[in-house]
Amino acid sequence: WLAIENKVAIITGGASGIGAKITESLLQNGVKAVVADLNVTTGEQPDGTYHIQCNVTNKESVEQMVKHAVDHFGTIDILVNNAGVNLPRLLIDFVGKKPEYELNEKDFDFMVAVNQKGPFFCAQEAARVMVEKKSGVIINISSEAGMEGSAGQSVYSATKGAVNGFTRSWAKELGKFNIRVVGVAPGINEQTGLTTPAYNEALAYTRGVTVEGLNTDYTKVIPLGRPGTLEEIGELVTYLASERSSYVTGTTLNISGGKSRG
Ligand code: NAD
Repeated sequence: WLAIENKVAIITGGASGIGAKITESLLQNGVKAVVADLNVTTGEQPDGTYHIQCNVTNKESVEQMVKHAVDHFGTIDILVNNAGVNLPRLLIDFVGKKPEYELNEKDFDFMVAVNQKGPFFCAQEAARVMVEKKSGVIINISSEAGMEGSAGQSVYSATKGAVNGFTRSWAKELGKFNIRVVGVAPGINEQTGLTTPAYNEALAYTRGVTVEGLNTDYTKVIPLGRPGTLEEIGELVTYLASERSSYVTGTTLNISGGKSRG
C-alpha cells in the first residue's frame, strides 16, 4: 500500500530513541536503511540496516557518509534529518538556585551545530543525488518547541524553528526536481536519550511542578491524555516518506496529541 519497498533511506541519529523507531518502521515496510550516527560502528547489521559512523556537524564526515551510502545501496531516495540534541538552559538565573541552568555560549553553539548545521549539510549532499534522478523525499524532525516555543528551551526552540524554515525553503527550491520536503514536530513522548534527568528537572521547574508531577501535568496538557509513542512517530515518517503522501511538501506536521503550547 505504501509503495515504498526497496527505497533507500538515510536516517541520521538512527541509533537510538525516535530515530531507531523510524528506522524500524521503514525496515518493516521494505526500505533499505542506512543509520548515520555518532554512536555506531560502520558496517552491515543482522537486521539488514547498514550503519555508518558520522558526525552531522562536520561537512566532510557528511560528504563521506552520503558517498558511502550511495556506494553501498546504489542511491538515496529518502533522507530523515533526525539527529538532534537538547540542553535545556534557562535564559534567566532564577535567584541563583540553579546556576547550572544558565545559558552559556558553548551550549548555544553545540545545539546550533547539531540541530541546524547538521540537517543543512545532510540535505545538501543528499539533494545532489536526488536532483540528478529527479525524485526524493527529505523529512526534517522538528519539535513542538520549534512551532510554539518552550520555556527553558529557547535555543533548542530556535534551532527547530530554523529547521521549519529549511523545510519551507527547500520545498520551494527542490519541488521542480520532484523532491518533497516535509517536517515532523513531535510533542511529549516516551522518554528517549534526549529527555535526561536534567531535561526533566528544567521542564518541571518551568511548568511549576515537581519532576514526579510531570506525568500528571502532561495528561492535563495533552488533549489525547497521554504522551506519544515512538512507534507513532515512526509510522508518520514512513507515511510521509511514501508515495501515499505524494502531494505533501513544505509543511511541518505536529504529532503531539493535540497539544499546542510548549
Ligand atoms: P536521542 O538522544 O535518543 O537520539 C539522538 C541520536 O542522535 C543519538 O543516537 C545520537 O548519537 C545521535 N546524534 C547526536 N548528535 C549527533 C551528531 N553530531 N551526528 C550524528 N548523530 C548524532 O534523541 P531523540 O529524543 O530520539 O531525538 C531525535 C530527534 O527528535 C531530535 O531531532 C529531537 O530534537 C527530536 N525531538 C525529540 C523529542 C522527544 O521528546 N524526545 C520531542 C520533539 C523532538
